[in-house]
Amino acid sequence: MTDSTRIALQNCGKTFADGTRALDPIDLTINGGETLVLLGPSGCGKTTTLRMIAGLEFPDPGGKVFFDQDDVTPLPIEKRSVGMVFQSYALFPNMTVAENVAYGLRIRRTDRAARQKQVTRMLEMMHIAEFADRQIAQLSGGQRQRVALARALAVEPRVLLLDEPLTALDAKLRVSLREEINATLRRLGITAVYVTHDQDEAMALGDRIVAMNKGHIAQIGTPREIYQAPASPFVADFIGTTNRLSGQMQGGTFAHPSLRRALALETPVADGAAEIFFRPNALTLTTAKQADLCGTVTAAFFLGDRVRLHVQTRDDLPPVLIDAPPESLPDQGEVIPLRIDPRQVLVFPATGAAS
Ligand code: ATP
Repeated sequence: MTDSTRIALQNCGKTFADGTRALDPIDLTINGGETLVLLGPSGCGKTTTLRMIAGLEFPDPGGKVFFDQDDVTPLPIEKRSVGMVFQSYALFPNMTVAENVAYGLRIRRTDRAARQKQVTRMLEMMHIAEFADRQIAQLSGGQRQRVALARALAVEPRVLLLDEPLTALDAKLRVSLREEINATLRRLGITAVYVTHDQDEAMALGDRIVAMNKGHIAQIGTPREIYQAPASPFVADFIGTTNRLSGQMQGGTFAHPSLRRALALETPVADGAAEIFFRPNALTLTTAKQADLCGTVTAAFFLGDRVRLHVQTRDDLPPVLIDAPPESLPDQGEVIPLRIDPRQVLVFPATGAAS
């Protein structure tokens, strides 16, 4: 797979027959050979976007889908040369592993010798050659998903589309299989679109991530950009664990009842209502004199490389989360003074809308 396909969605919205507006019109380009991850909460339109690329759904009038120069908008899935992998494997239970992988080649009437060669290649690539003659029912979930991947890739599609392929697997297997998927996609250089609501998966796999919310694109960026420079309160809140305070900006400083003094911010916004976001590792234990906030430890979780503390600063607010070095394990009920690193604070003017 040398010349990887570039995908472009132009003005693609989707309103279903019952009137549900699943997707506002979006423009989205996926570069050839890129792995693009669609990430967002349930119902935000990820699967609908993927299905429009697949040719399983069609955009509302005015929307267009291009594979390179080809306008594929009216083409159904079987004419688009896409491979799909789903959460539910969707394998043929009455066929062996090898027969499943050969299926697409058989439909395309690939001759027997070429078919066998390709099936062997795919089984080896996905490390399932030893299961070639097994029935699907005799495989574990992880092995089934490998078969599904091998089957999707066997026909050398222009584009590989994956819809939450690892969700049904246990946590450890998910991590190891996602590493394998990552390596396979990179080796093949195939254009891939991957849907997930799991941000770790998105970070690990995506060249770029599309953060989606309520039928629109909230931000497109590399994993690092999305994590370190979220474009909106929605993205800041959705990606990673973060603390969030709603307060007031005045003269470059942010004031909030739980703060002992207004925080001078590095990149302030205009005076008025604002929200700040800071991650648990932006806080350090300090002296009472230097503290930005003080609170009572209500829970402490030893996580091996760090301790996650829940600190109640006020009764009417959720606890502030702090990551402290593993050797510091304050007692529950202890009152601790904390400093916030202002360089790690993001601020947004309060809009009232969760965009
Ligand atoms: P999840 O993570 O839960 O799979 P998603 O982000 O993939 O969610 P979509 O499946 O794209 O979300 O659905 C977007 C919206 O469109 C949802 O509100 C959903 O209920 C609605 N929807 C999806 N398919 C249809 C359909 N065939 N008819 C009507 N509404 C639909």
